[in-house]
Order: sequence, then structure tokens, then C-alpha cells
Amino acid sequence: MSLNHVRPWRNIYRRKSRQIMVGDVAVGGDAPIAVQTMTNTLTTDVAATVAQVQAAAEAGADIVRVSVPDEASSKALKEIVRESPVPIVADIHFHYRRGIEAAEAGAACLRINPGNIGDEKRVKEVIKAARDHNCSIRVGVNAGSLEKHLLEKYGEPCPEAMVESGLEHIRILQDNDFHEFKISVKASDVFLSAAAYQGIAEATDAPIHLGITEAGGLVSGTIKSAIGLGNLLWMGIGDTIRVSLSADPVEEVKVGYEILKSLGLRHRGVNIISCPSCARQGFDVIKTVEALEQRLEHIKTPMSLSIIGCVVNGPGEALMTDVGFTGGGAGSGMVYLAGKASHKMSNDQMIDHIVEEVEKKAAELDAAQEAAE
Ligand code: SF4
Repeated sequence: MSLNHVRPWRNIYRRKSRQIMVGDVAVGGDAPIAVQTMTNTLTTDVAATVAQVQAAAEAGADIVRVSVPDEASSKALKEIVRESPVPIVADIHFHYRRGIEAAEAGAACLRINPGNIGDEKRVKEVIKAARDHNCSIRVGVNAGSLEKHLLEKYGEPCPEAMVESGLEHIRILQDNDFHEFKISVKASDVFLSAAAYQGIAEATDAPIHLGITEAGGLVSGTIKSAIGLGNLLWMGIGDTIRVSLSADPVEEVKVGYEILKSLGLRHRGVNIISCPSCARQGFDVIKTVEALEQRLEHIKTPMSLSIIGCVVNGPGEALMTDVGFTGGGAGSGMVYLAGKASHKMSNDQMIDHIVEEVEKKAAELDAAQEAAE
């Protein structure tokens, strides 16, 4: 990640991790932090699952996880993988056969804890299947399902127990000369997660998948994840993230991106800077921003747009954005392009007009990017 020498207070020093591949997506090292989500359809309902994977990918998901609880799901997985525009991670619990079937079905990664799938022979078979099919593995420690011997040793789920669990699973992979793995140590408690992740980040150079598990609904889960994941990312920890919400996977992807965008770690689509509005506003800021968020969803080019109610903060914010609109008086406002006041526009036409200006700017930025490549 590039460091900002002009504004060093923006720098994030990312932990150096080994790079692995999840399908064609690089994870770890200097690869962009990948955004993941998980489907919540029945995996055996191929059409519904593929539709959800596609919607998540359209919203920006780099990788999507799918549950594989039974043999019928393993069969469906093959078709899902074929139709998916992004690599698929198969979520496996306990059943080593499912792990083998998922690798054979083309999963790019298995989320499986090798210590929980039985004797050494079974573990070796799963690892062999992963290796034979170019499949990486995510060791997924969860505070809610820690091994009995660790709970006995530590008395309760704690960061040390989670780190130890993760290292035990990792050791099995390493003993089998398998190194294409990443690790997560999730908990629904922000403090527990953050401490466990800091511990595991020091104990291994494996790429880290971040998540606060069972975070909650759209608003509460977003806040919890933003605090937990946001702090870890700020410390430089995390190579892929999943925001777990009791909501549509598309929302998880949007929130994941917003967290990365706020830390300047990834950019995608229009970053709207808008004021909360007050009695000074020259137009209805809240309704306008709501409408623009919807109308600009199709823009993938990273760019910024300021929508500010009045001249108190409008010109200053517009200075730093690609397109800006500041409310004035008498039913019109000022449009700013590349930080400079450009022309006036009436409030009743401004939404259509801003959409046009943003589309124009996005096309310009895309062309400049292509020319530079
Ligand atoms: S920018 Fe203007 S309209 Fe917006 S909150 Fe501030 S004073 Fe109010």
C-alpha cells in the first residue's frame, strides 16, 4: 500500500503476510484487501445461490463463500462454481468427505478446521484433494466452537485459547507440507476478536481473514464490524474481510467496502461526502443524497462527490472532490468540477445533472487509467 509522505497521519503500515491464491484472487502480501460475503440461500437451490453470488459480485465481492452441509450441496457446488464470476469458498464443518467433494467440485478454497475432521488419514485425504485441485484452505477459529481441551485449559473462550486453536490447526497443515492457507479467529465480542487477531497476527505470517462473527443486524452489525475490523485494519492487520450481518449479502459487501474506503485501503465507486443538513440548507440534502446513492450505484470507478447544503462548508469540501454541488439561494446551487466552481444549476434539475457529470467524470478517469496501463 502506498504511503502518504505529504500526510503521514494517513499512513497504515500493513502487516507483512505470505501471499496465497484463492482461485485467481491473490490474498495477502501486497494484494488489495479482498472483500468477501457468504450466501444464505440453500446451496442445493443452484439458481437462487448463483443469483446471490452474482449480485454480491456486482456489488464488489471478490470472493463468495457457500455452505456445503451435505452431499447434495457438494453436487450443486459444481454448477455454482461454473456459473460464478468470482472464486467460491466452500464452508465445511466436520465432514471430511464434503471437503474432498468440494475440492473436486472446483471450490477455490475450503473453510475447514483440520483438527476437527477426524483421524490423520482423513486429514491427509482432504489436504491431498485440496492440493490436487489447486484449492487453498481457511482455518476458521470461532470463539463459540473452541476445542474442549482448550476450554478446559483456559476456562473460557479467551484470546490465548483462540490463538492456540489456530496454531494447532495450522500445524497440521504444515506437517503435511501444505502452506496455501489463511486464518481467521472470529468472535462476536469486539474485544475478544481484536485481541485474538492481534495475537494470531504476531504468531504466524499466514494471510488473515477478518470478521466479527454474528455481528447483528444491518445497523448494529455495521457499527460493531466498523469498530472491530476498522481498528484491526488501521493497525495493518487483515488481508480479506467479511462483515457478517443478518442482512442481504449485498449489504455485507457494501459495508465491507465502506470500511475499507474510510481507511483509504480500497476505493470503489462514488464516495459521497455530504453534510447532515440544517436550517441553512439551500436544497433537501437528505433526499438528494438518498436519490444519488441509488442512481450512482452502477459507477465502479473510484471517485468523490460532495453534496453540501450551503456555502458554510460547500466550497471547502468541493475543493477536494471530483464533482461537487453546494446549495446557494433562490432555488439553485453551484456545481464544482475538479474543485473549481463551474456553473449554476437549478435545484429541480440538479440530481439528473449531477448523475450526468459523475458519469462523464467516471468515463474520463477510466480512459486515463486505460491510457496509463
Ligand atoms: S453545510 Fe450548511 S446546510 Fe450543511 S449542515 Fe453545515 S451549515 Fe447546515
